[in-house]
Amino acid sequence: MPGGRDGTPRDKVLVVGMDGLRNDRLVRSAAHAPVLHGLLARGAHGTSLLPYGEADGQAEGGPWTSMAYTDSGPGWSSVLTGVWPDRHGVTGNDFAGADYTRYPDFLSRAGAARPGLRTAAVVSWPELVHRGTLGPAVGRRVHHDGETDGYATADDLVARTAVRWLTEHDPDLLFVYFGGTDEAAHATGPLSAAYDAALLAQDAHLGRLLTAVDARGSGERWTVLVTTDHGHLDTGGHGGDTRAEREVFVVLAEPGTPAGTRLDSPRLVDIAPTVLDRLGIPVDPDWGLAGRVLPSPTPPTSEWS
Ligand SMILES: [Zn+2]
Repeated sequence: MPGGRDGTPRDKVLVVGMDGLRNDRLVRSAAHAPVLHGLLARGAHGTSLLPYGEADGQAEGGPWTSMAYTDSGPGWSSVLTGVWPDRHGVTGNDFAGADYTRYPDFLSRAGAARPGLRTAAVVSWPELVHRGTLGPAVGRRVHHDGETDGYATADDLVARTAVRWLTEHDPDLLFVYFGGTDEAAHATGPLSAAYDAALLAQDAHLGRLLTAVDARGSGERWTVLVTTDHGHLDTGGHGGDTRAEREVFVVLAEPGTPAGTRLDSPRLVDIAPTVLDRLGIPVDPDWGLAGRVLPSPTPPTSEWS
């Protein structure tokens, strides 16, 4: 179990989701995302493609992958549950078929495995709360409404909420979602100035979160993960099977990560088991998680040794 009482650092995790953030726009230059580039420089990074099958291309209602549209509902469900749409059941933004009872989000799993663990989530896409992708067992579960108020406004409120929790409360596991990049890409495409501005705004929000983490002091060991749910066509839009829509990234930063480490094809379903691992919670095979634990720079040693 995590330390604390014996003087070892307490393990904590921050996961930040940025909707529809294309990796090529992220890595393009530090000027476009200075905070994220700082994480890339001191952490690990890699990309993978969302699952794609061959035989289902004839299914009605395409474009279609073997499992799901490259949409936000399936993508964030895969991030949060650690299983693909064939198990969590979400194949589109209608959330039809969702089985979050069998496959709950990693915050709920962590809280169930360790009562007393403080979990919190704040998002600007209300569906993640309304649909139960983030389940009712999450300790603090707040949504601001990017759909009604615009994502620039809602994301700012998300960041303020998360910073307040990090400053005034004591979360052990925090999930934060920003949607401005996806909104901009749908409006003007991911090659547009508006998309650059949305990325820069989210990058600044991330910076505020990391500053709040750093200000908490030395008795904690934070793992930070940043990811996305899908890409975008150059013209804006997603749901289909092109590489631009299917490519996703994972950034992993924690104390001891060798600078510039390459992650070997990290997948969205790897995030949940990695979060649980960093909190010292063993993954139960009965959970049926599809992902693997992303490598740790400092393999955990027993606090009893
Ligand atoms: Zn999305």
